[in-house]
Amino acid sequence: MQISFHGAARTVTGSQHLIEVNGYRLLLDCGMYQGKRSEANERNRHLPFDPKTLDAMVLSHAHIDHSGNIPTLVKRGYQGPIYATHATRDLAAAMLPDSGHIQEKDAEFVNKKHKHRGEAPVEPLYTQQDAFNSLRNFVGISYQQSREILEGVHLSLVDAGHMLGSAIVMLDIEDKDAGRDIRLVFSGDIGRKGLPILLDPTPIDYADVLIMESTYGGRTHEPITDLEAEFGELINTVYQKRGVLIIPAFAVGRTQQIVYLIQKLHSAGKIPVLPVYVDSPLAIDATSVFRLHPEAYDSDVRDYMLTYGDDDIFGFEKLVYTRRVEESKALNDMTGPFIVISASGMCEAGRILHHLRNRIEDPNNTILIVGWQAPDTLGRRLVDHISPVRIFGEEFPVRAKVVKMNGLSGHADGNELVDWVKAMKKPPRRTYLVHGEVEQANALTQRLTNELNLEKVSIPDLHEQVHFP
Ligand SMILES: [Zn+2]
Ligand SMILES: [Zn+2]
Repeated sequence: MQISFHGAARTVTGSQHLIEVNGYRLLLDCGMYQGKRSEANERNRHLPFDPKTLDAMVLSHAHIDHSGNIPTLVKRGYQGPIYATHATRDLAAAMLPDSGHIQEKDAEFVNKKHKHRGEAPVEPLYTQQDAFNSLRNFVGISYQQSREILEGVHLSLVDAGHMLGSAIVMLDIEDKDAGRDIRLVFSGDIGRKGLPILLDPTPIDYADVLIMESTYGGRTHEPITDLEAEFGELINTVYQKRGVLIIPAFAVGRTQQIVYLIQKLHSAGKIPVLPVYVDSPLAIDATSVFRLHPEAYDSDVRDYMLTYGDDDIFGFEKLVYTRRVEESKALNDMTGPFIVISASGMCEAGRILHHLRNRIEDPNNTILIVGWQAPDTLGRRLVDHISPVRIFGEEFPVRAKVVKMNGLSGHADGNELVDWVKAMKKPPRRTYLVHGEVEQANALTQRLTNELNLEKVSIPDLHEQVHFP
């Protein structure tokens, strides 16, 4: 058996790992690389393998850094199945066409500049239609159902607790060359215990070979426990000041968690009734997918449903989903108190920019940051209390209050990652740390080696190939 690490090697983005065994080629994830434009372009357009030579693909979850280059794979001739949980397949049906739309808009923007300079036009990485086409290759499977996807290769997916549908990929392989059975486990992205809506990450009894994420391998998150109280207090303050609470949030996952938290606070009478607007078409589509997959909810949601009857957990009287541009624009003229949740999560694009431009100068308003903010994004500047900030090319002083609420991170921290490995009945014989910056992966290597006595923990380079045994 041979593994090639073609993405998310010494970085968090562009997850792609190629397994070769028994004469088959199996791809784990086909993520989009996100980073500097020129590098991203180069990497996403040139796949490091010929898609026509692949026999099967498994997708761990729907996030774009894991799924985003599937349309390119299919466009370039991949004809095999793409195995994923049902929820991942359904989320991909919303997210990949949305990504195709962004690619088309992006190419349009670049081509305007090219035309100006008399340069040749570029093609989008893929179109919305390419994304639709790639959905035909998906094969939805349930959690915990083992199935032979290639001769001698049995796949099962268990809940990773990271986003709706997220899976840890387990491959039980009869390695014919080595003449023995091997279990290869690919962690995908591992979530945290106690995240709203989601089940906790599933413990695994063993892995011979482990490919594991390390995003926060060297960090410790704040506990999730006080999240609701903190959030309730914040909403009450905004209400008293008759301000607007602006929450930039990723359309898929984070938005639904926030809506659910608000819903819970409402039902328990801990916050007053105030209008809540979810202003993002992708978030609306993703919410429909969430409604379809109660099999992935945790016991907290089940208890809630038992207590409050069959209320829609993503909808209440004062909650309005705004899909059309005119509806979104109408929010500009409204006075508080109200809450608006909009994308993008890092305030780099999308409708959130209009809300920030209109509300950022009013000290009665609050901007609530709920996710990690990459360096050099508007979201990061807000978290760092930089003022003034630039929005649509204009400078605005930041007079609204900026609050960062930790605890909604979708990724396990160092302790949680170590505990997940510790729960295995026997230690993995080889561990490859991926999906993490080098310092995070290094920190996790230290801990796995020192605390759990793991042998052979390594951080593969991009395109590195390893043979096993
Ligand atoms: Zn993810
Ligand atoms: Zn990821």
